[in-house]
Amino acid sequence: MPDFFVPGMRLYLDKMIDWERQLRLRLGDDVDVEAEVGAYRSVLETTAALAESFQAEARERWSDEAVLTEDGGATSPPHIRRAYDKLAEAGLVSLSVSDSYGGYGLPATLNGIYLEMISRADPSLMMVVGLQTGAANDIEKYGSEEVKKEWLPRFTSGEVEGCMDLTEPQAGSDLGGISTRATEQDDGTVRIDGQKIFISNGGCEVHLVLARDAVTFDQSKGTTNGLSLVLVPRHRSDGSSNGVRVSRLERKLGIHGSATCEVVFEGAEGVRLGEKGKGFRAMLDLMNNARLGVASQALGLCDAALWDAVTYARQREQFGRPIAEQPLVLTMLGKMAVNTEAVRALLYRTYGLVDSVTAGEAALRRGGLPDAEVARIEQEIERDSTRIRLLTPLCKYFATEVCSDLTRDAMQVFGGIGFTMDSDVGKLHADSLIMTVYEGTSEIQASFALREMGKGALAVVLAEVRSELAAMVDDETRAELAERVSEATTVVEDTLQILYSDMNYALLRAKLMAEMVIDVITGTELLKQLGADPSRADIARAFVRRRMLDVEHKARRIELNAEGRFELDTRLLDRIAPGGS
Ligand SMILES: Cc1cc2nc3c(=O)[nH]c(=O)nc-3n(C[C@H](O)[C@H](O)[C@H](O)COP(=O)(O)OP(=O)(O)OC[C@H]3O[C@@H](n4cnc5c(N)ncnc54)[C@H](O)[C@@H]3O)c2cc1C
Repeated sequence: MPDFFVPGMRLYLDKMIDWERQLRLRLGDDVDVEAEVGAYRSVLETTAALAESFQAEARERWSDEAVLTEDGGATSPPHIRRAYDKLAEAGLVSLSVSDSYGGYGLPATLNGIYLEMISRADPSLMMVVGLQTGAANDIEKYGSEEVKKEWLPRFTSGEVEGCMDLTEPQAGSDLGGISTRATEQDDGTVRIDGQKIFISNGGCEVHLVLARDAVTFDQSKGTTNGLSLVLVPRHRSDGSSNGVRVSRLERKLGIHGSATCEVVFEGAEGVRLGEKGKGFRAMLDLMNNARLGVASQALGLCDAALWDAVTYARQREQFGRPIAEQPLVLTMLGKMAVNTEAVRALLYRTYGLVDSVTAGEAALRRGGLPDAEVARIEQEIERDSTRIRLLTPLCKYFATEVCSDLTRDAMQVFGGIGFTMDSDVGKLHADSLIMTVYEGTSEIQASFALREMGKGALAVVLAEVRSELAAMVDDETRAELAERVSEATTVVEDTLQILYSDMNYALLRAKLMAEMVIDVITGTELLKQLGADPSRADIARAFVRRRMLDVEHKARRIELNAEGRFELDTRLLDRIAPGGS
């Protein structure tokens, strides 16, 4: 049985995170850092053991679908409900909600590791607990004290779950198309009417609905202004139905156990979270958390597929030896291992920034700091928030694209049996396919990242990367690799300048540009890992050698193929299907 608490996770808990600073900022000088970190370790060890115990049944019952319930809801199949109950009994749900509401205040990095472990066992179960935490965190950030007291203890006890309701038939990537209506009542509550589609865990009790304010409906239509985020329960406080109904469940190619629902709201009553008309901002918080959550989900699936592929390749013999010793299989497995660690490096680095902002904000809220310290923390929060805005879409893009390629490679390693239901590896690939789509498609993530680069985030990110690389002088190999990454940062910056001259061409190349930035940040983080643990040398070396060449190659593609590229692609389509717009 694999150990779900893998070395790459332990490295961050034990060596990479400056717990002393983070916990003192977040919880004050009296904090017992050792005890706190010990408690975190035990949460992760218990999660690992529970997740491991769920995996076999999750795979066996992979095709079991969620079902509609008689009261207008929907529920996951029994094996997922059982696993959820076990997590709730162990106190392992909504872990990042603060302890004032019965949560654990688990740092984002560790919550990400928790989600990764659950996803490794069962990505459908991960949808349930991931959305539950995400919804609870948004309520904690934007809800009134009354709303928080009413709902958060029910989240942390596991009694209620949450979901996020954005998508409508005409509003997918473009949320400006939302037409679900929010009408304010005399008593300050909000009435919701409309239809949402593709809502994961949409049969649960607490819906966070993005809806257009009735008063400014016509003026704001087609934009993300005038939207409010509204907490809508499925039941009123007296237990009666609140006009929220699951009208249909999707049948899908994967994550069968996760209920994907069409939800109808008919005069459903709710309370607004955050300011009127500023709901998109509040939802962005939830979406950004969820994007990192999906990246963790993808990483968990990479862990699973990599383990399965290596185990199989070592025992399957062809031509008189294990296929793991055939050079082409070996190199495929090696690439899978490095890419999994690369995703982990970028993702944990980003979670680290989120934790740093949370800790700084907590210190400012507590007060009593000298002015110079306040100014320093404020500056750090601003800088880290800029970095998070760029790194979040990059994480979602990188993790999910790697996951879809890696699970497909894992199928290839299994040969013919990989295509049959006698192995589980095809299930992993099928589950991976949605991850490049929900929470914003890969194209949307790359476009967002490009926009943030244009607003100056790239300069902030590269300045930090360069100063980290410049400090890597302790060891010859590390210094040499750092030099290569440092040279690549200049290539990345020069390439962005070329793209600035033509916005259409820039958008057409957004993925290549995103990948170049991912490569230099990830290379830097892997080299930081090497500084903390010499056993990471091979991973860092393999990634930097290959990917810095990729950066040069991509830069040349962007530079040399700019002329008439947009028109060329348009003409290519016209050859196949003439008469397009
Ligand atoms: C299983 C599942 C679970 C889901 N869970 C939820 C949920 O819990 N809550 C929720 O609100 N929604 C959920 N969704 C919806 C999901 O977020 C959307 O499907 C996704 O955002 C894409 O929207 P769309 O399907 O309308 O595709 P479209 O927006 O129509 O996009 C189609 C294609 O065009 C591309 N495209 C569109 N616009 C651009 C652009 N400007 N630049 C470049 N490319 C572009 C896209 O990348 C994509 O390749 C879920 C969907 C599924 C299938």
